Amino acid sequence: MLADTSLLPLLLTQFATQALGYFAVVAAVYQLVWRWGRQRFRAARIPSPRRVDGAQIRREIVHTLATLVAGMATAGTVLALHAAGKTALHDAPTSPWLVLAWVAGGLVWNDLWFYACHRTLHRPWLFRHVHAVHHRSIDVNPFTSYSFHVAEAVLLGLWIVPAALWLPMPMAALGVLQVIGLANNVMSHLGHEFLPRWLLAVPVLRWTNTATFHSLHHTCSRGNYGLHSRVWDRLFGTELPEYERVFRARGDAAAPGSSEAP
Ligand SMILES: [Zn+2]
Ligand SMILES: [Zn+2]
Repeated sequence: MLADTSLLPLLLTQFATQALGYFAVVAAVYQLVWRWGRQRFRAARIPSPRRVDGAQIRREIVHTLATLVAGMATAGTVLALHAAGKTALHDAPTSPWLVLAWVAGGLVWNDLWFYACHRTLHRPWLFRHVHAVHHRSIDVNPFTSYSFHVAEAVLLGLWIVPAALWLPMPMAALGVLQVIGLANNVMSHLGHEFLPRWLLAVPVLRWTNTATFHSLHHTCSRGNYGLHSRVWDRLFGTELPEYERVFRARGDAAAPGSSEAP
């Protein structure tokens, strides 16, 4: 199906666009936060027991390329199914409110899918053979965002398949979800906490994921499995108990030289 002559150029174009777009965003954020902001954002730097080096970033770039190929396979499957009229997705113009509602629903489903897969990936065998690739990065940075084993990249991207097959989701909502997914992943792996401490006092916002939340997951290699929110971790008792304390204390424990970037 993927060898279809009309689909292959589309997939290659999509891969090139995704790869260029992704690395442009990640490199720009890295340059801004880690290099230009090295001293300026010192107080926001999240403490880590091991510091990032050039070898880590090179390894992350290689794994990211594999992740993007896996993403192309998933996108190609959905596009091929859509072209064959086998999805419930539609391209017709629709109300922005409806798109927004689909985006909200998509975020909840994506968050639940990720939580379930991520917790499963922490089972000993799967962790050793698959998820360890992502966890080799302790001091996370924007290049860590898509640094996955290819099997994990496929698994995490599969959330879209049942949604595309059975839900009459506008394609526009799918596009918005992709952008939010990228932004959230980069934010989670920023290695710096820019969200204000008072976030934890705001009823709905306090349940969103933060850079501290996910950095702690990399430091402890357990707990805080959520993608967009803390909801599932709270519900299933997997949130790390120190999260709120560390979120409030960012900067306090930053050691001298902690903002060094390779
Ligand atoms: Zn993990
Ligand atoms: Zn991560």
